[in-house]
Amino acid sequence: MSDTPIFSTPDRLSRQSEKELAKLDLSFEFFPPKTDKMEARFWETLERLAPLSPRFVSVTYGAGGTTRGRTTKMVSRIEKESGVKAAAHLTCVGATKEEVNEVVRGYKDAGVSRIVALRGDPPEGVGQPFQPHPEGYRNAADLVAGIRTIGNFDISVACYPEKHPQSPDWYAEFENLKRKIDAGASRAITQMFFDNELYLRFVDRARNAGIEAPIVAGIQPIHNFTQISNFAGRCGATIPKWVAERFEGLEDDPETHALVAAAVAAEQVTELVDRGVTEFHFYTMNRSPLVYALARLLGRRPENSRG
Ligand code: FAD
Repeated sequence: MSDTPIFSTPDRLSRQSEKELAKLDLSFEFFPPKTDKMEARFWETLERLAPLSPRFVSVTYGAGGTTRGRTTKMVSRIEKESGVKAAAHLTCVGATKEEVNEVVRGYKDAGVSRIVALRGDPPEGVGQPFQPHPEGYRNAADLVAGIRTIGNFDISVACYPEKHPQSPDWYAEFENLKRKIDAGASRAITQMFFDNELYLRFVDRARNAGIEAPIVAGIQPIHNFTQISNFAGRCGATIPKWVAERFEGLEDDPETHALVAAAVAAEQVTELVDRGVTEFHFYTMNRSPLVYALARLLGRRPENSRG
């Protein structure tokens, strides 16, 4: 043991001990695995992250319902086998109301009580105009209202700190978010963002627009800069120049890439905690190390390691 005195720096919230820190809510997003090998990684990641007491673990729904069976299978297994609450993502693109309702009833029968309700994107991609199915839900707000008629689900919806690429203006953006909350959603989870000011400004604007529901910060650790920047570009999230510069030239240096990714994400989440943010949703890409370390920075320890 060293004799170095331990002193606290109460000026930064992120440096306070877990007991002093406001209670943080964490959730972890997974995608349904396609192969046996990917499925093994899914369960390993879940096993590692589940003891961190997430509010829930969510499983995405492939574009146009392509993973419907796999999403249902994974969420019901998570509930049964890990004891962690699972949330199933659900989209309404390209399906009739009855087809979507059947999936919702399936979740209900499997004991899944949480849904992340989304419109989804046209099969041609996010840049293409959205055409609702003639007998389908028209948008996410309509879907939330439909889910509510089937059961008392805890519903989350999506929101966009940089505006949805199809929103004509901020007024339309917040009117749409308000409709989703008024239809029965309990919270909104943001699209990934890499500049905290965008998120903080978005929350301010939402409050000014009369939206009081929690706006959970969606955090995308940069596991692979090339992949994430392509994906971010497609969904209208910008990567600041300073972030891009930190990853420049690291394509063939995975070790440094991983260290830089950890540093960038750590800076992002600790700054958000310092600014009073208490709810985080991590896009895990079915990998645990980075998210596990970030949860630790936020004061989270595995349940069984506490005395
Ligand atoms: P909506 O809220 O319906 O709105 C989308 C756009 O349409 C907005 O610009 C809005 O202003 C406009 N709009 C909606 N209704 C009206 C109206 N009545 N009049 C005028 N304009 C309107 N996709 C998947 O395929 N699977 C997933 O599992 C998935 N998970 C996601 C999780 C999170 C946290 C996030 C942020 C996104 C996720 N997505 C997923 C992506 C999502 O499907 C797309 O971003 C999609 O383009 C919009 O979905 P939404 O639910 O936000 O749509």
